[in-house]
Amino acid sequence: MIVTGVASGLGSALAREFATEGAHVFGCDVSDEAGAAAMDGIGVYRHADVSKEAEVEALIDDTVRRCGRLDVMVNNAAIQVEQELADTTEEQLDRVLAVNLKGPFFGSKHAIRVMRGAGGGAIVNVASVLALAGDPMLAAYGAAKGGVLALTKSAAVKYGREKIRCNAVCPGDMQTPIVEAYFAAAQDPAALRAQAEAEYPLGRIAQPREVARAVLFLASDDACFVTGEALVVDGGLLAECY
Ligand code: NAD
Repeated sequence: MIVTGVASGLGSALAREFATEGAHVFGCDVSDEAGAAAMDGIGVYRHADVSKEAEVEALIDDTVRRCGRLDVMVNNAAIQVEQELADTTEEQLDRVLAVNLKGPFFGSKHAIRVMRGAGGGAIVNVASVLALAGDPMLAAYGAAKGGVLALTKSAAVKYGREKIRCNAVCPGDMQTPIVEAYFAAAQDPAALRAQAEAEYPLGRIAQPREVARAVLFLASDDACFVTGEALVVDGGLLAECY
C-alpha cells in the first residue's frame, strides 16, 4: 500500500498504523530526510512530488514492481495557504490545486490503472471538513478539498464494478505540525488552543492516529460495501449548528 506525505502529521501516523496491521507500506514525500526517518523500520521511502504526474506514476509502478500489486492507495499529502479569497493570487491557487487536488487525482488515476488489472483495491483520499463547510481564510484549500470529494465519487461510480472502492475522510483539526504552528503564532497560544478545542463537541481536537484508524477502516474489508463515501472524523464539529 502507498501513503503520500509521510514525513509529517497524519501521513506518518498512517504509515505507522498500516505497518502495525501488517501492510507493506510505501511512503512518499518531498521532504526526504523526514520522510525517510518516518519510514525507518516500518516500510520503504521514496521521493515523489504528488503534483507531478510522472513522479506519482513512477511511485506506483515501482511499488507494484517490488510488491507484485497495489491494494491500497492513500492520497494524504497536502499544503495549506492561509489567504482569504479576494487576496488569493493565481500562483497561490495554482500551487494549492496542484498538490491538494491534482495530487489525489494522479494518485487515483494511476492506482486505478494497476488495481483494475489485479482484481481491485481501495483508494482513500484525505479531504477535510473544509470540503463541506467554509473557512474565511482557506479559500483555495477548501476549493481543492471540495474537488477531492467530487473526484472520490467519480472514481467510486466508475470503477466499483471493477472492485475498486474509493472513499474520503473529512477530518477536523488534528494535533499535527500545521495546527501546532498555527497555535504557536498566536499572541496567546494556550488561549487560542483552548478556544479551538472548545468548538468541538468532544472537547478537544483529534490525535492523528484517531483519523488514521478511520482511514484504515475505509481501506479494509470491514468497509467492503462502502464506496463514494465522505466519512467525517471531526469530534462532532459539523454536527453543531451554532
Ligand atoms: P502536514 O503538513 O503535517 O503533512 C503533509 C505532508 O505532505 C508533509 O510531510 C509534506 O512534506 C507533504 N507534502 C507537501 N507537498 C507535497 C508534495 N507536493 N508531494 C508529496 N508530499 C508533499 O499535514 P497534516 O496536518 O498531517 O495533514 C495531512 C492531511 O490531512 C492533508 O491532506 C490535510 O489537508 C488533511 N487535514 C489536516 C487537518 C489538520 O488539522 N492538520 C485537518 C483536516 C484535514
